[in-house]
Amino acid sequence: MTPTILWFRRDLRLGDHPALLAAAESGPVLPVFVLDEALLAPAGPVRTAFLFDSLRALDADLRRHGPGLVVRRGRPATVLPDLVREVDAREVHVSADFGPYGARRDQQVEDALDVPLIRTGSPYAVAPGRLTTGAGSPYRVFTPFYRAWVEHGWRRPADSDPAAVTWVGAPGDEIPASPETGEAALPEAGEAAALARWREFRGTPYDEIRDRPDLDETSRLSTYLRWGAVHPRTLLADLDPTDPHGEVYRRELAWREFYASVLHAWPESARDYFRPELKDLPYVSGAELKKRLQAWTTGTTGFPIVDAGMRQLLAEGWMHNRVRMIVASFLVKDLQVEWQHGAAHFMKHLVDGDLASNQHNWQWVAGCGTDAAPYFRIFNPITQGEKFDPAADYIRRWIPELADAPTKAAHRPWRDGPPNGYPEPMVDHAVQRNEALSAYQLLRGQRP
Ligand SMILES: Cc1cc2nc3c(=O)[nH]c(=O)nc-3n(C[C@H](O)[C@H](O)[C@H](O)COP(=O)(O)OP(=O)(O)OC[C@H]3O[C@@H](n4cnc5c(N)ncnc54)[C@H](O)[C@@H]3O)c2cc1C
Repeated sequence: MTPTILWFRRDLRLGDHPALLAAAESGPVLPVFVLDEALLAPAGPVRTAFLFDSLRALDADLRRHGPGLVVRRGRPATVLPDLVREVDAREVHVSADFGPYGARRDQQVEDALDVPLIRTGSPYAVAPGRLTTGAGSPYRVFTPFYRAWVEHGWRRPADSDPAAVTWVGAPGDEIPASPETGEAALPEAGEAAALARWREFRGTPYDEIRDRPDLDETSRLSTYLRWGAVHPRTLLADLDPTDPHGEVYRRELAWREFYASVLHAWPESARDYFRPELKDLPYVSGAELKKRLQAWTTGTTGFPIVDAGMRQLLAEGWMHNRVRMIVASFLVKDLQVEWQHGAAHFMKHLVDGDLASNQHNWQWVAGCGTDAAPYFRIFNPITQGEKFDPAADYIRRWIPELADAPTKAAHRPWRDGPPNGYPEPMVDHAVQRNEALSAYQLLRGQRP
C-alpha cells in the first residue's frame, strides 16, 4: 500500500493530532519535517536550538513505533513533491498554518504537488478566520472575540494513537546539532516535557500569581505551544472554567488565538502599524537609536525592572509577561524607539517567539494595536517594579550588581549614588513622559 506523508511543522507531537489521525486513515504514514531556510534564518540560536531539540524528541517518540522522523533540508515546494515521487505517496497531510509565511508556503507546495495537500486541524482551538462579527468582518477587539470564542467552543482532544499507525521511513538528513545558546538555559523539549509541565502547573492559583515575576509560577507553556508540543485544546479540556483560575487561564489562551486571528485577517500588521495614527510620532533614529537600543538590549538602562527583564531574556530566551509589557513600554515611550525594533529583538531571542503574539503585543503596548491601551497611559518603570516585584527578588535574581541591595535601594539604586557598577538611569522618566505626551497631543492636533 502506498504511504501518505505527514508533514510536521508547528505540531511536533503525536497526541491530540487531528492531521495524524487523518493521515493514518489513508494507510501507512511517512513522518517528515523540512528544514526550511526561510524559517530558520530569522530565528536566533535559542529558538533554533529548541526546534532541533524538539525534533530529536519527536524522532525518539516516533522510534518507539517505527523508523523515526525523516528530516529533509530545502524549500518545501521542492522537497515535498520530490519525496512524494520517491515513495509514491498518495497524499500529504498537514495541520493548517495561518501565519503569513506559512499560508503562502503551503499554497506553493499545494501548487507544486500532483497529489492532494490535506489540511486537518490547526495550532488553535478555534481556527483563525472561523469567527466573525455580526457584520461578517474579523474581530478587532478582544472582549467580543472572547465571548464568541467561548460560545463557539472547540472539539474534544483528538484521539490519535501512534501505536495504532503503520509508520514507514525514507532516507533523510541528520537533525543538526543545536547551536550554542550562550548563557541561555532552555527548557526540556518534547511532548512528554510539555505535558509534565502542564501537570506540574495545573493546581497553581494562576489568577493570584500571574502578574508577579518574582514568584515565577506562570505555566511557561508558551514555548511548547509555539512548536505544538501540546495543543491548546488538550489544556482547555483539562481546565475548569467555573474555577476563577481556570477562567483566567482560558482567557490568556484566548489572547493567543485572538492575535492569530487578527494577523490572519491583516497579515501586513506583522510589520505595519495596525492603527496608523501613531506612525508619525517623533521616534529617534541614526546614532541615537543605536545608542538607546544598545542600552535596552543589554539591560543597562539604569532602570532595574527593565534591565532585569532584558537580562532574563538573554539568559533564558524568555521573559515574564508583566515585564515584557514594562520593557516594551519603556522602549517605545521613554526611549522613543519604534516598536518594530523591540519586536525584532524579541523575535530573535525569545524561545516562544511567535509572530502573531509578539507583533500584536508590541503594538498593544505601543498604543497602535487592537484594543490598544491608550497611548497616554504610560508605565512608570519604578512603581511598576515596586508593585509587581515587591521584595525586589526578581531584580536581585537578574542584576548581580544589585544582588545585595536592600529592597528600596534595589528599586531606586541611584538615590544614594550608583552602587556596585550598576549604571545610572539613562533618561529621566518624568521628562520622557512629558515629552511623549506632548508629542502625542501635537500629533492629535491638541495643545500640549
Ligand atoms: C511585548 C510582548 C511580546 C510578547 N511576545 C510573545 C511571543 O513572541 N510569543 C508568545 O507566545 N507570547 C508572547 N507574549 C505574550 C506573553 O508574554 C507570553 O505568552 C507569556 O509570558 C508566556 O509565558 P507563560 O507560558 O508562562 O504564560 P502564562 O501566563 O502561563 O499564559 C498561558 C498561555 O496563554 C498565552 N498568553 C498569555 N498571555 C498572552 C498574551 N498577552 N498574548 C498572547 N498569548 C498570551 C500564551 O500561550 C501562554 O503560554 C508577549 C507579550 C508582550 C507584552
